[in-house]
Amino acid sequence: MSTLLVRHATLLVTMDDHRQEIPDGGLFIRDGFIQAVGSTRTLPATADEIMDMSGYVVIPGLINTHHHFYQTLTRAVPAAQDVNLFNWLKTLYPIWARLRPEDIQTSTQVALAELALSGCTTAADHLYLFPNGSRLDDEILAGQQVGLRLHASRGSMSLGESQGGLPPDSVVETEEAILADSQRLIETYHDPNPGAMVQIVLAPCSPFSVTANLMRQSASLAREYGIHLHTHLAETSDEEAFCLKKFSHRPVAYMDLLNWTGPDVWFAHSVYVDRSEIELYAQTGCGVAHCPSSNMRLASGIAPVLEMIGAGVKVGLGVDGSASNDGSHLLGETRQAMLVSRVRAGLSGASLSTLSAPPLMTARQALDITTRGGAAVLGRSDIGSLEPGKCADFAAIHLNRLEYAGALHDPVAALVFCSPVTVDYTIVGGKVIVKEGQLVTLDAPVLVEKHNQAARQLLGNNP
Ligand SMILES: [Zn+2]
Repeated sequence: MSTLLVRHATLLVTMDDHRQEIPDGGLFIRDGFIQAVGSTRTLPATADEIMDMSGYVVIPGLINTHHHFYQTLTRAVPAAQDVNLFNWLKTLYPIWARLRPEDIQTSTQVALAELALSGCTTAADHLYLFPNGSRLDDEILAGQQVGLRLHASRGSMSLGESQGGLPPDSVVETEEAILADSQRLIETYHDPNPGAMVQIVLAPCSPFSVTANLMRQSASLAREYGIHLHTHLAETSDEEAFCLKKFSHRPVAYMDLLNWTGPDVWFAHSVYVDRSEIELYAQTGCGVAHCPSSNMRLASGIAPVLEMIGAGVKVGLGVDGSASNDGSHLLGETRQAMLVSRVRAGLSGASLSTLSAPPLMTARQALDITTRGGAAVLGRSDIGSLEPGKCADFAAIHLNRLEYAGALHDPVAALVFCSPVTVDYTIVGGKVIVKEGQLVTLDAPVLVEKHNQAARQLLGNNP
């Protein structure tokens, strides 16, 4: 039994059902779970450990709902800098085919370190190619050293070029091998309990890289074990054209046909969804991982996020893989979500100066997506807000800094409107992952050197 008292936070942002923001706030934590939340004077006065948070804003740990950690090795690759999704993928597949198990381990730690330093406490990752003996275990075991909660998606590709798919045959697997490995991973690592550090997700990569059969089989295996399903969907107009041509359905209708709708399913992107498809998401409980930077980077488009939220769809945020962002700053991504949503509002045609103007996403709405929204998308009721009974996952940011100078009339808005900062503290289940702006679970400079060497080797003479 151990207790932690967080007290005197200048502002404690709970993100609870009433969205309480508590001045001079704090948390009383026992064994990694929150027992009490409130103003400091209402909390116990002593604990095994005490953190004085005067001068800090404390927020629930941010939740990342879509990533490809391994892509940190292929950021800013020259030939993939200025192309759209399909050409970007065709450029990168052959490079990714050279990934080794140690590359998966190093890149996992780099991505999680970046996430932790931006206030993230739970991350979903989507690993969908396993060359040269790589396994999802490489990611899970390396990730455990960083200390964030991980939703590790067993991705897959089975529809190679020779079968009409997009990826080269060299990076696809057989469906028998994919399903057997999926089952092994669920049985080895998946923890369904509150406070889980690792959960497994099944995640065939996209409609253009797997067969309908694998989609169906993955869905039934996931439901047998009660785990979540994830894939890329409706990301680009190219994908929509591919689905119409090959399957005679738009992407969402195709997923519905394959039994891929329900509260246990979440889709990355969903840029190309119409009103009836948004309603289908809402009715069936499908979630969406919104990835604004990636959608801008690859010129994919702007997802109708406010429309989805208005219809009751669960929306979380994702930085997406690091070859299409090219970073894992989740607080920065929250800002991008707010800003690009405003671009969409501006493009919708209504004058912003009239009463009929579309509403603009607020800073608090954006933070809502990155906290409560992410938890809902991942199917977690134990994270996403600071409330009694929930995991003690939070981040703390000092307000007295250059970036927020002049913005302290609204510290919560400052987090999103002002330049994204490295957080001062990231705590997961009561354990310190980032302290005074530094990662404490890994030696970051050593990791960076190792990662740069691995990236050089991976690109070889073929940048
Ligand atoms: Zn992705």
